[in-house]
Amino acid sequence: MDPTVDPAVRSFLDVDPQCHFPLQNLPFGVFSPGPRAGRRIATRVGDWIVDLAALQDAGLLQDAGLPRGLFSQPVLNPFMDADPQQRRLVRRLVHSLLRADEPTLRDDPVLRGRVLLPKDGVVMHLPVLTRDYTDFYSSREHATNVGIMFRGKENALLPNWLHLPVGYHGRASSIVVSGTPITRPRGQTRPADDQPPVFGPSRQLDFELEAGCFVAGGNRLGEPVAVDQATDHIFGLVLVNDWSARDIQKWEYQPLGPFNAKNFATSISPWVVTLDALAPFRCPAPAQEPGPLPYLREGDRHTYDIRLEVEVRAQGAADGLRVCASNFRHLYWTMAQQLAHHTVTGCNLGTGDLLASGTISGPDKGSFGSLLEITWRGTEPLTLPGGGGRTFLADGDTVTMTGWCQGDGYRVGFGEVTGTILPARAAP
Ligand code: MN
Repeated sequence: MDPTVDPAVRSFLDVDPQCHFPLQNLPFGVFSPGPRAGRRIATRVGDWIVDLAALQDAGLLQDAGLPRGLFSQPVLNPFMDADPQQRRLVRRLVHSLLRADEPTLRDDPVLRGRVLLPKDGVVMHLPVLTRDYTDFYSSREHATNVGIMFRGKENALLPNWLHLPVGYHGRASSIVVSGTPITRPRGQTRPADDQPPVFGPSRQLDFELEAGCFVAGGNRLGEPVAVDQATDHIFGLVLVNDWSARDIQKWEYQPLGPFNAKNFATSISPWVVTLDALAPFRCPAPAQEPGPLPYLREGDRHTYDIRLEVEVRAQGAADGLRVCASNFRHLYWTMAQQLAHHTVTGCNLGTGDLLASGTISGPDKGSFGSLLEITWRGTEPLTLPGGGGRTFLADGDTVTMTGWCQGDGYRVGFGEVTGTILPARAAP
């Protein structure tokens, strides 16, 4: 058994049972001790940031054999390029140092002062430099809901959907870390089908509850990754809010798919949770009927039981409304299938590339992962505490997504990805 996920091992640092960051998680992220200070790589336990650059400087990560300065980088990419066994060793070394029965750090207040920082005093940054971002459409429930709304029950799923993980190439430059405000986009829409298009702020701004995986290692141009090797190319997962302007999307999307409706912002959670940390929460993925073509057929088909929630809070309101409780395990196409399909043409993925799942809707009404579905295209408005009715997002609304795996008395989670809608800028 991987000792880092042993539920019996506790840290000398206090971890609340509800906290997403017990010793069994040890995600990777990038922080700075203040807004102007240099960025460094860290992990987190309980309410503490563990500065890996400081641990390396103290000579405590030497056994991993990684070059000096690797953790004093502004992004995780150089670390992600390290040998997977070395990366694994870093988690094991950190795990050993933080155990309740290990005195090196526990009993050395000077060292502790250098290595551990209270989480509330630091700034979290975008953890990874992403050159290419791909968004899939892997939830059968989401694709069916959208299909029913736009094409009717008979043709809900398009003929390709059960045979391949549908996706599109997204925009990497506008990926932002949790907490970054989101400016309402302006764009071209056609509110009435018999009238000319108009230009203005989007009136149907939406969120999409997604999870994404970061690629490490990648593959050479021309060399596809086999589906059963695909997870070797995955560094870890984050929560993704793939903000969407539905009115812009509706007018622009044919025939080439989403463009301006999706390119203004994509928010991610700051901690990248490794597949090692998620391993105890593996579970079967939904059965596929019809079975996929051989290049998408998995020898060990599995997914992860990750509970997901979305809350929307109106400006100035004390409380938000939980509008969705879904689960990553509902996804029909797995990350391995997405990666295999993406590369089957020989397309090269690189370290830092982000592959997002697409909106993760579950089977019940309370588990839909977008306002488009929750309000059924605006026909069933929500009422927000202290904020009135909503079909889509209003200026000042804050959307917060969270996700975690529930262990016996502990959680391994992602923290949150949050963002507040700012009014559209003046027209150009
Ligand atoms: Mn999306």
